[in-house]
Amino acid sequence: MFDKVLIANRGEIALRIQRACKELGIATVAVHSTADADAMHVRLADESVCIGPPTSSDSYLNIPRLLAACEITGADAVHPGYGFLSENARFAEILEEHNITFIGPTSEHIRIMGDKIEAKETAKRLGIPVVPGSDGAVKTETEAMKVAKSMGFPVLIKATAGGGGRGMKVATSAEDLPMAFSTARSEAKAAFGNDSVYIEKYLTKPRHIEIQVFGDGQGNAVHLGERDCSLQRRHQKVFEEAPSPAINAAARARIGETVATAMQTIKYRGAGTVEFLYEDGEFYFIEMNTRIQVEHPVTEAITGIDLVLEQIRVASGAGLSFRQEDIQFSGHAIECRINAENPRTFRPSPGQITYWHPPGGLGIRVDSGAYQGYRIPPYYDSLIGKLIVHGKTRNECMMRLKRALSEFVIDGIETTIPLFHELVRHPDVVNGMYDIHWLEKYLGKS
Ligand code: ADP
Repeated sequence: MFDKVLIANRGEIALRIQRACKELGIATVAVHSTADADAMHVRLADESVCIGPPTSSDSYLNIPRLLAACEITGADAVHPGYGFLSENARFAEILEEHNITFIGPTSEHIRIMGDKIEAKETAKRLGIPVVPGSDGAVKTETEAMKVAKSMGFPVLIKATAGGGGRGMKVATSAEDLPMAFSTARSEAKAAFGNDSVYIEKYLTKPRHIEIQVFGDGQGNAVHLGERDCSLQRRHQKVFEEAPSPAINAAARARIGETVATAMQTIKYRGAGTVEFLYEDGEFYFIEMNTRIQVEHPVTEAITGIDLVLEQIRVASGAGLSFRQEDIQFSGHAIECRINAENPRTFRPSPGQITYWHPPGGLGIRVDSGAYQGYRIPPYYDSLIGKLIVHGKTRNECMMRLKRALSEFVIDGIETTIPLFHELVRHPDVVNGMYDIHWLEKYLGKS
């Protein structure tokens, strides 16, 4: 097992990783920008290193500085969390070259899955159903028009290097297409430095259902069921639950086994998530994330498995601590992403938290780096905490969530908690009757 893990991240996920390290008896190193000197992940770590100014490219995304921090502290492994460098194949490679373990999959798997076209081709080859679309990248408007017409409108133009919902544009008709095509390309260029795009059939009422997988890198791989992340705004998840209210045990086993078999074939290592759109009883692969995800705690709640601890175990070469038949699903879990944002306009609301009272009681978990007096810096994403609720049934979980939300008090800044108060009372959410477009329609109406 490792002696010391450097956590190349901030906020709640940095804290989450520290907790797993502590339980394994591993020393932790926090890195931080000057804006995060007072952050909880810095306070609770065994050691900390300031790696630069607030701008991410000069701190959390700066590979030479992270390497220097490893060297100074003698860390023998790095956990990247999510975002930042977690899906940067070059980072994983450089660490390995320096004999520091990257807690994650191989750089080759990161690279394949980071290129959406290659990921889709790989998925297809492995027998995973994919969304109908263009054969690879679409280079010209004429070609885009040809593909779109043969598939039928609406279509979605997506960035090959995509992530975070950026570089994605819908074209509802042939008239729309030229504009959508050029905007998607310029957005992709601006966000990823790569203007390559491809086209997919735009599904009009799908759910977003993703499968959590785990592999040991030796050909053993299992699935840990699904998460339903259909409540989204601008392609960003807001509320996630497991199991999905839309699929039954047979569908779960079918897609779970397909994905687990694929991961065995490629000898996938560590945690991963295979994302699907689900419409009219069919699953369509959209992408694979080769890291731990924000919403992983709902899977932990229903399986009782510590996914981050398992990531560290697997990276150390200890192998998977469970087999497929050991995984039992129990009850229902929901996560609400609490953002420091206005709950209507979603304008970020950084500033000082003057009062902080998280909920408690049976089945409640709050993952957050926030505390009373903490000043949320304006430089990073606005996620300040996650409320995860577990109950024996979906109904119990919803009742408990309502209760937990009513206990949660955060003063001094605006948060998205008021939006969740509304959502848990809406009949469509109560009944689990929503698709990926539901939340935007709701926000547009109210
Ligand atoms: P990113 O990597 O930018 O998050 P994804 O491919 O994972 O992009 O898609 C993000 C979200 O965009 C999905 O959860 C879904 O809401 C929407 N989306 C993606 N592909 C399609 C599609 N073919 N039809 C309809 N919606 C889609």
